[in-house]
Amino acid sequence: MTTKAFVIGHPINHSRSPLIHQSWLAEHHLDGSYEAIDVRPDELPAFFARLRSGEFAGGNVTIPHKEAVFGLCDAVDPLARKIGAVNTLVVNEGKVLGRNTDYLGFLGNLDAGAPGWSNGLASAIVLGAGGAARAIVVALQSRGIATIHLLNRTPSTAESLATELGGNVEPGGLGAFNALAGAAGLVVNTTSIGMHGSRFDDLDLALLPKTALVTDIVYVPLETPLLAEARALGLRTVDGLGMLLHQAVPGFEAWFGVRPKVTAELRARVEATLGH
Ligand code: NAP
Repeated sequence: MTTKAFVIGHPINHSRSPLIHQSWLAEHHLDGSYEAIDVRPDELPAFFARLRSGEFAGGNVTIPHKEAVFGLCDAVDPLARKIGAVNTLVVNEGKVLGRNTDYLGFLGNLDAGAPGWSNGLASAIVLGAGGAARAIVVALQSRGIATIHLLNRTPSTAESLATELGGNVEPGGLGAFNALAGAAGLVVNTTSIGMHGSRFDDLDLALLPKTALVTDIVYVPLETPLLAEARALGLRTVDGLGMLLHQAVPGFEAWFGVRPKVTAELRARVEATLGH
């Protein structure tokens, strides 16, 4: 019997997840399908009834459902609970388990693009305190980074998130960047700045140590102005497309039983769709 998976969202037509999963299904000659399904918020309970009936092995959840599905899942894993968002559903014997693989996607991307990046890393700067920042701070905490500076345009949002996530998270405004840069080994942009060529006004990347790594989770354009500036300064950079590809790995493995690889061919195939 064909094993079926999905991505639900509203709207859903721009999702690149079908391309990623269908490529892996073909590569591994699996009897499976992965389809994008437009589900409105009011249709979510009925969709979960379909899930419990065993029609699907599971699937992905995207905007605007990542928080709403919490209340509908039979169980949510502790990391997804800490992050406050579910992006992957796995159905087992009529029960729906909610997981979050964004943090694994972030880590997988950096591990592939900058091996050893977290070894001895004492100070990281995370720009932004929205939904994606939550997953990234949890990811950085899982690697034992000593201090995570969480800088946001609206500092009060960074303060609330730092309190919620606890531990070694120091909140502040974007204006604190230049004073912290000299000791920072990693800078992560999790804001939407960079899309459509938008740029930060006052971040002086030249103040970073020459060994610093700069990464952006915005991937349209692939090289954001932040990454272009970092590259021009000779700093290491990793773009955000790999996070999208790597976050898909654990879901595919759970539904179809094969751990797929993020290859250069897959990356090129998805890259070719950017800007469309
Ligand atoms: P979100 O929850 O809406 O948060 C947006 C963040 O951007 C907030 O911290 C917000 O600051 C900040 N921001 C927005 N406009 C700004 C501006 N003009 N100047 C300074 N800061 C600004 O969004 P999200 O879900 O975290 O997503 C953020 C970005 O990450 C999106 O571009 C999304 O496509 C991308 N993303 C990529 C991946 C991937 O796999 N590569 C995964 C998830 C998300 P305030 O609090 O001050 O409003």
